Amino acid sequence: MTPEDREGYLRDLRLSLEAGYKILQAGGSSLDATEAAVRVMEDSPLFNAGKGAVFSRDGKNVLEASIMDGRTRKAGAATQLMTVKNPISLARKIMDSSPHVFVAGADAESFASSEGLEIVDPGYFWTERRWKQHKSSPNSITVSESTQHDEFHEKGDNLPKGTVGACALDRHGNLAAATSTGGKTNKWSGRIGDSPIIGAGTFAENRVVAVSATGDGEYFIRWNVAYDIASKIKYGGQSLGKASKETIDHLKTVGGEGGIIAIDSTGKIALEANTPGMFRGYVGRDGVVKVAIFMDEPCV
Ligand code: ASP
Repeated sequence: MTPEDREGYLRDLRLSLEAGYKILQAGGSSLDATEAAVRVMEDSPLFNAGKGAVFSRDGKNVLEASIMDGRTRKAGAATQLMTVKNPISLARKIMDSSPHVFVAGADAESFASSEGLEIVDPGYFWTERRWKQHKSSPNSITVSESTQHDEFHEKGDNLPKGTVGACALDRHGNLAAATSTGGKTNKWSGRIGDSPIIGAGTFAENRVVAVSATGDGEYFIRWNVAYDIASKIKYGGQSLGKASKETIDHLKTVGGEGGIIAIDSTGKIALEANTPGMFRGYVGRDGVVKVAIFMDEPCV
């Protein structure tokens, strides 16, 4: 990572945290704060979501996102998107204004348009950096069925990968979590990862926890990571720190790399990863924004 890249990531992380904090500070909801924070990262070309999304094996940017309201356990999720500029806002609309939780593809895109969300040409998501990654990464279709996943896992995109997420607690005690991604480089275009799956990549329940995850989606789905952490807290009485660490450490032992950000109803946070780095940051009641990239460096 060049010093310019590093500065860019830290700058956009700060902008994202500031956007969310501004809403909380003004008495707004954790849902609005998480949506706003994620939109900033979707609009940045640096992160693997929205504008900076990775390419699938056939050269498409296929986006997905989800959001969850801890107050009601309502949730919205969308996948197989190629023209929605801000997938997180579509997830929010699905939660607020549709009869469903999870909607895919053309139907989701026409709902986005009918709700007045910004629709873009698929070319909007093209970035040179991601195109080069697509061209230079191994194509998972060439590996055999039995080894497919491990090959994909070992030779895939270098970490940190850049799925984006936000978790927030507002002054009314309401928790929310939001996650948005372009998935994995050279994924099958029809592949769905953990990010839009409630309980895997995103989960929020008041008085328990809000969690957003990044990493090898196949593992996060199979180990139901966000809900695994929540259930350790809810039924096992564990602290947020212990539950997050246990789940993420365990994931590593079975081959899954990645991490989570989380906040509980007392405002405690967890920024846990089993990888060398995870773009991350937080802003507490004092309003001071702190960010970091590698796990051996503290947020400053
Ligand atoms: N979790 C995402 C996915 O598997 C990728 C990532 O977080 O890097 O789609």
